[in-house]
Amino acid sequence: MSDNTEFDYIIIGGGTAGALLCNRLSADKQNSVLLVEAGRRDDYHWIHIPVGYLYCIGNPRTDWLYNTEPDPGLNGRTLRYPRGKTLGGCSSINGMIYMRGQARDYEQWAQITGDDEWRWDKVLAAFRRHEDHWRLDDPAKASDAFKQLHGSKSTGGSGEWRVEKQRLRWDILDAFAEAATQAGVPATDDFNRGTNEGVGYFEVNQKGGWRWNTAKAFLRPTCYGRPNFEMWTNAQASRLIVETQPDGTQRCTGVEVWTGQEMITMKAHKEVILSAGAVNSPQLLQLSGIGPAALLQKHGIDVVRDLPGVGANLQDHLQIRAVYKVRNVPTLNVLASNMLGKAKIGLEYALRRSGPMSMAPSQLGAFTRSSPEMEHPNIEYHVQPLSLDAFGEPLHHFPAFTASVCNLNPTSRGSVTIKSADFRKARPSHPITCPRMKTARSPQTACA
Ligand SMILES: Cc1cc2nc3c(=O)[nH]c(=O)nc-3n(C[C@H](O)[C@H](O)[C@H](O)COP(=O)(O)OP(=O)(O)OC[C@H]3O[C@@H](n4cnc5c(N)ncnc54)[C@H](O)[C@@H]3O)c2cc1C
Repeated sequence: MSDNTEFDYIIIGGGTAGALLCNRLSADKQNSVLLVEAGRRDDYHWIHIPVGYLYCIGNPRTDWLYNTEPDPGLNGRTLRYPRGKTLGGCSSINGMIYMRGQARDYEQWAQITGDDEWRWDKVLAAFRRHEDHWRLDDPAKASDAFKQLHGSKSTGGSGEWRVEKQRLRWDILDAFAEAATQAGVPATDDFNRGTNEGVGYFEVNQKGGWRWNTAKAFLRPTCYGRPNFEMWTNAQASRLIVETQPDGTQRCTGVEVWTGQEMITMKAHKEVILSAGAVNSPQLLQLSGIGPAALLQKHGIDVVRDLPGVGANLQDHLQIRAVYKVRNVPTLNVLASNMLGKAKIGLEYALRRSGPMSMAPSQLGAFTRSSPEMEHPNIEYHVQPLSLDAFGEPLHHFPAFTASVCNLNPTSRGSVTIKSADFRKARPSHPITCPRMKTARSPQTACA
């Protein structure tokens, strides 16, 4: 950490968005860029071994350990709400599924915001720029249509964000896929064409059997060597500094950063970029006096800007995890149920970087419609050759697979609201987040 306290850009949060922004902004040598990340470096082995999500979720080394408020719509239950707390953010603990979303989502955002840059054809160019797709390792073998969606110019994938095929398959998942096609869901080998309808194995953000997080993709190969780039880990932004300009407008000019020992005030000449994730970004805004005035006043925070939308309208894909017992077919529950099985799995990964340790949690997916009248696929299945009560809990002792299903367009909305004005209390014992999954039911939705 240098003594420098002034930068052109200060990026808060080195997760998925933050790492990419660091890369792109520091590519211009004229820009000085500081990354402030509350978590530690991504030097924990379970981040990189794909099956390690089991040990990263619910682990204070890598997860903020949030819980939802008790939800009447869920019979009063609270849910774990994992959020990555390390370089790479959620991309260091997530399911690794490479999924762009549906073209019509982007079109809708363009319509709502009035900003054409959100349109599918515009974002497609951005996807192509940063993607490095395994099928384009030999561009001659890829079709023009595929290059149109995934390639960069005519040369194939040349971005940083590696997308690979999974390194193992399961009979039980193949059988699920076949049953889905018999039921009318088309088979697909690419969920990222714009309409993700179909059933097939997901492609994943991995490289050679290792998780490919955004720290590896966007920070390590380039930013680490750039003299105009500086990175602080274990450094938590605690307040945004907003100043009134001579023309009366308000501008965020800096940020207070807690390093664990001291509070340092940092100044940004150009921009402070808040990329602390869907939970911590609104949290930091509220702590800085930007949010619903009544909430801020309740916690004795001076209101800088009364913005009721900050922390509101949280949407998520609540999943129903249906577990099915099976017979006469291998599942991970059985393969990993004894020491010999575990040793074989470990050896396979050590020798070939394949087998269950290279697994994304959900290997097979299906996007389809809850009824034929639906204009677009509105439900998604995540299918796993295993079952457990919750991630982080042991596998069940009986052979089974899980077919989770979620509503892609939920009508329920949650919110994130601070429970304390003290950023240090934004910890498990004093949870600040309450993404409430209120239940709303309508005939069109499978599960709101
Ligand atoms: C369990 C799980 C599984 C998922 N699976 C998939 C999947 O398979 N495929 C997929 O496409 N998406 C998946 N997602 C979603 C995807 O990972 C996220 O949408 C994406 O990573 C969010 O990126 P982000 O940059 O907005 O936030 P994050 O990646 O969360 O980054 C935010 C960063 O900011 C840091 N930070 C927070 N507060 C502060 C502060 N005050 N000061 C400094 N730093 C701070 C955090 O520590 C973190 O590193 C999953 C998410 C989770 C949680």
